[in-house]
Amino acid sequence: MTTRDRIYLFDTTLRDGQQTPGVDFSVEDKIAISAMLDEFGFDYVEGGYPGANPTDTAFFTEKRTTKAKFVAFGMTKRAGISASNDPGLATLLQAKSDAVCFVAKSWDYHVRVALGCTNEENLASIRDSVEAAKAQGKEPLVDCEHFFDGYKANPEYALACARTAHDAGARWIVLCDTNGGTQPNEVREIVSAVIATGIPGASLGIHAHDDTGQAVANSLAAIEAGCRQVQGTLNGIGERCGNANLITLIGTLCLKEAYASRFETAIDPERLSGLTRLSHAFDELLNRSPNHQAPYVGASAFATKAGIHASALLKDPRTYEHVTPDSVGNLRKVMVSDQGGKSNFINALKRRGIEVAKDDPKLDHLISIVKEREASGYAYEGADASFELLARRTLGTIPEFFSIDGFRVMVERRFDSLGRIKIVSEAVVKIVIDGENHMSVAEGDGPVNALDLALRKDFGKYQNEIDDLVLADFKVRILNGGTEAITRVLIESTDGSGVRWWTVGVSENIIDASFQALMDSVIYKLMKNRELAGRIAAE
Ligand SMILES: [Zn+2]
Repeated sequence: MTTRDRIYLFDTTLRDGQQTPGVDFSVEDKIAISAMLDEFGFDYVEGGYPGANPTDTAFFTEKRTTKAKFVAFGMTKRAGISASNDPGLATLLQAKSDAVCFVAKSWDYHVRVALGCTNEENLASIRDSVEAAKAQGKEPLVDCEHFFDGYKANPEYALACARTAHDAGARWIVLCDTNGGTQPNEVREIVSAVIATGIPGASLGIHAHDDTGQAVANSLAAIEAGCRQVQGTLNGIGERCGNANLITLIGTLCLKEAYASRFETAIDPERLSGLTRLSHAFDELLNRSPNHQAPYVGASAFATKAGIHASALLKDPRTYEHVTPDSVGNLRKVMVSDQGGKSNFINALKRRGIEVAKDDPKLDHLISIVKEREASGYAYEGADASFELLARRTLGTIPEFFSIDGFRVMVERRFDSLGRIKIVSEAVVKIVIDGENHMSVAEGDGPVNALDLALRKDFGKYQNEIDDLVLADFKVRILNGGTEAITRVLIESTDGSGVRWWTVGVSENIIDASFQALMDSVIYKLMKNRELAGRIAAE
């Protein structure tokens, strides 16, 4: 057996991905995403730039990963002052991280124009910053910004930057194609040249951008040439055309013989089967539709239109598919009896503690309900708790905790006594518990808030149980379902245990969609309290 080189996966969704136009993570978003990344198995999770903005500073008041190394990003010390006197460096080193990634100029032109210091001062900043991080017990990394362009302009200086970082003790020297214009053959040549000077590939990382559509190709070229850390983002989000897409890279590194036979990553086959789920859950969190044509994980990645290909595909999928959809947790799309889909379902249920036999007709029934509902706008990948409730309802039973007799929501726009416009929302909810009617009225900041307050105002014997239920987030998406717009609402809930769960509702009416998601959240909470559900959320 030959030993394979380990490739370290470094995710920068929360730092470089934050530069994507239209993307603005809250602290709550960052906590949710870092947990997803940590659970999936990334080696490094770069969380942001503590000290640069209030969100990142708040995010770094705690370490947010358990297995992955949690990385803070920031500048090397300023020229002209000592490392111990640089307040920016101090903030960075105080952040609750395992590792610190310094961004360093490695193109002499940028040193002169952007930093306004000498080449030697820049090298001293790299050295002193790496040493200061080490002295704090942190793993130091250095991102050599514009490395490939810098190398083309002045190879001696670009190499001196990398060499200085290495000699000072940086665990990783990351070669960055910051403007994304470098071609794979150039990446291969320059990485080889760096290694030839004596900096080992085991200390080198690659950070590529997609401005010529080759961020993944450039990352693979760098790995072939010897880099052993690869940086990128979920679904390739990032500034301009994006960063290297880690979802695609993981698929290729794990499944393509050329790489899988030479390299290993932290992603074993079981984790790999969660790749599609990870990609889609992230899109849901961003409140955007997944790209159907995304490599490996897109809804169309293993879809074949009916016809000559479809029947051949049924006979032998290998002739039409470069990898099996199961391997990345995706589904083949033409098959009538969908074995792949079925085993995915069984696995998904097993993870939630629900056992079901492959030939149980109730399972086929559940699959058809999910497919039907997803076609009408439900998105269960982003709404784990609703999926679990649906599965439990279909395959077995859920206690009837209460029933809803009806609800009414009123929104009024009027003028107050000072003549200012005032919007008032009021909701009435009628609940039946053990044959007893409970009616509650509440005013709220908006119709959904009023409905939530009314629903939870009088819950009879369950009142104490839902006291610690908090709605953490609320996302609305308008879907174009043919001629009429359909609204999908995703609600994120949490409680005193710190566990989070997501529920979904779909309707032509936004209030009704919200109500469905709200009801699922409450029922899930009651199930969870009785340990009848929630195994996956508690993982
Ligand atoms: Zn970048």
